[in-house]
Amino acid sequence: MTEIKKLLRGHSAFYEEYFVSRPELYRKLVAEGQSPKVLVICCSDSRVDPSIILNAEPGELFVIRNVANIVPRFEEDKINCHGTTAAIEYAVKGLEVEDIIIIGHSHCGGIKTLVEDRENNHTFIDNWLYTLQEVKEKAVSAGLGFRECCDYCEKEAILASLRNLEKFPFVRERVNAGRLRLHGWHFCLESGRIETIGTIPVPAEKSA
Ligand SMILES: [Zn+2]
Repeated sequence: MTEIKKLLRGHSAFYEEYFVSRPELYRKLVAEGQSPKVLVICCSDSRVDPSIILNAEPGELFVIRNVANIVPRFEEDKINCHGTTAAIEYAVKGLEVEDIIIIGHSHCGGIKTLVEDRENNHTFIDNWLYTLQEVKEKAVSAGLGFRECCDYCEKEAILASLRNLEKFPFVRERVNAGRLRLHGWHFCLESGRIETIGTIPVPAEKSA
């Protein structure tokens, strides 16, 4: 069976489930519109589909996927990175999501590309990953080996994106008002488990 035939068969199963067995969910989502409470910013990697790893239903997650789950810096977004930031703006200001989760993962190809010692050829990927240059430099100056450097950068990149996200004025305003929480998670492909890397605001029991 070709891949396309397999996918169309998969779609038939989806149709049976959501439009024949229990059509009320999509009826409601059409009549009332979407109102997801959570924005997920996840890597494009085929192994980390957020709806699958979080077992979410249609309508539950508003999702942005890009190489290495990066949130660009606020000051750069108007020039280069409007695809991701436009979706963040819509999720926060339009949908009023209550939680934003950045999900990074082990064996991230984007992070490997960042860490590889190669010249910046100014490809789309190089320019996109440049946001994480400081993270890489910290890892390199610590003298880490390639694998350790990748592990370090995967997690530090999540924290860097959390900090960038927090600096968007419409995000900061809602975080300060207690209407929005930011989470950084790392999904391990070997164990299948999620580790919390950071939370904004820091939970009360940890900030003491
Ligand atoms: Zn990745």
